[in-house]
Amino acid sequence: MGFAVTETQRTLVENVRRFVRTEIIPLEHELDPDESELSAPVLAGLVAKTKQMGLYNLDVPEELGGVGADTVTRTLLAMEMSQHRAGLYSPCYGAFGQPDMAQLYEATDEQKERYLFPILRGEKRSFFALTEPAGGSDPARAIETRAKRDGSDWIINGNKTFISGADTADFGLVFARTGDQGSGRDGITCFIVDADTPGLTVRRVIHTLRSGHYPTELVFEDVRVPAEAVLGEIGQGFSMATERLTKNRIPYSAGCLGVAMMAHRMAVEYAGTRSVFGSKLAEHEGIQWMLVDSEIELRSAAALTLDAAERADSGRPFRTEVAIAKIVATETAGRVVDRAIQIHGGYGVTKDLPLERWYRELRIRRIGEGSTETQKMIVSRDMLKGRYTSWIDR
Ligand SMILES: Cc1cc2nc3c(=O)[nH]c(=O)nc-3n(C[C@H](O)[C@H](O)[C@H](O)COP(=O)(O)OP(=O)(O)OC[C@H]3O[C@@H](n4cnc5c(N)ncnc54)[C@H](O)[C@@H]3O)c2cc1C
Repeated sequence: MGFAVTETQRTLVENVRRFVRTEIIPLEHELDPDESELSAPVLAGLVAKTKQMGLYNLDVPEELGGVGADTVTRTLLAMEMSQHRAGLYSPCYGAFGQPDMAQLYEATDEQKERYLFPILRGEKRSFFALTEPAGGSDPARAIETRAKRDGSDWIINGNKTFISGADTADFGLVFARTGDQGSGRDGITCFIVDADTPGLTVRRVIHTLRSGHYPTELVFEDVRVPAEAVLGEIGQGFSMATERLTKNRIPYSAGCLGVAMMAHRMAVEYAGTRSVFGSKLAEHEGIQWMLVDSEIELRSAAALTLDAAERADSGRPFRTEVAIAKIVATETAGRVVDRAIQIHGGYGVTKDLPLERWYRELRIRRIGEGSTETQKMIVSRDMLKGRYTSWIDR
């Protein structure tokens, strides 16, 4: 690992930290503890400030009007942006830009005008529909949704499940089987589907332990889309989905670490002020060991996540490193927040503090974006199929 924070990165981190602490956290005192959205005028005011800071659309390449930050910088900033109550799933409520559907970078100019740029301007919302009722861990085999040609159009039939935000979206990326190339990944194509296309319905919103936003079940009944709805090449939809999903697991892991760092800091401060049995919590060895375990685990997880980011930026293979970082970051964050709750006693489980929300929402992160078990499968494949390299040779 040859990682060092540059002066520019340090300044960016400090600016984002200040923004979260002065603009976002005070605002949350007035919000419902489970809120994930702000009113349009309040959000617009925050966006004006992030634009002034030169940090709006951080992830987006410069040629598309974004900041074009590299993965290490995005990772460092993702750790900061999540450090508030709604920050795990709604970092700064979208003030630094909405999730941009990076798959659309490969879109045609017409598709970019119609879908990508409105997303980047915060005018449209989207969904990403890969998972199906038959299973999400192995979508290449589980996808049963079919798209068949009819003249130059395509007709889509099937079901999707656990699709976040589809009930409020303007359009979505829908992965459907188009090929006769067997049941695997080469027969899957990505379509851009407008949410109001006849035949597409949101069957239900699925209530989960995540606050504010819920995933949905979608039904496609003879949904007709034109040839121009194909994103990228026919049969290449699966590669497009997995390539971006892999890289996005780095800032995803960083977001988990961000909330855990905040929870840990709260635990350290509380332990220094609360007294039990005649002395401060922090003076009891049982509490000290919990805090030390959290410190060690957080440092280790952050180092692994930044290592994966650094490899992604340097053009070296990073799939195994991302999988390891995703497992360690999501599992560490869950344990650290759990300890922080324990140290806060009864207050830890109240909605007066953000800890209980992070505890619930972090549970999903061991399942979403590639579960712990599927990430272990990736690591074991690389280890056991002769691609194992010792630490020193990496
Ligand atoms: C809140 C939420 C939001 C979501 N949002 C979206 C979205 O916007 N778009 C989208 O496309 N999907 C979304 N998903 C779906 C998510 O990606 C899947 O839930 C996830 O990939 C797991 O798939 P599954 O639930 O079908 O579990 P399954 O694939 O049925 O797996 C069941 C269990 O078996 C384990 N397992 C799988 N393979 C192995 C193996 N080889 N060895 C051992 N154990 C294994 C899994 O880890 C899991 O614990 C969302 C899910 C949730 C909960």
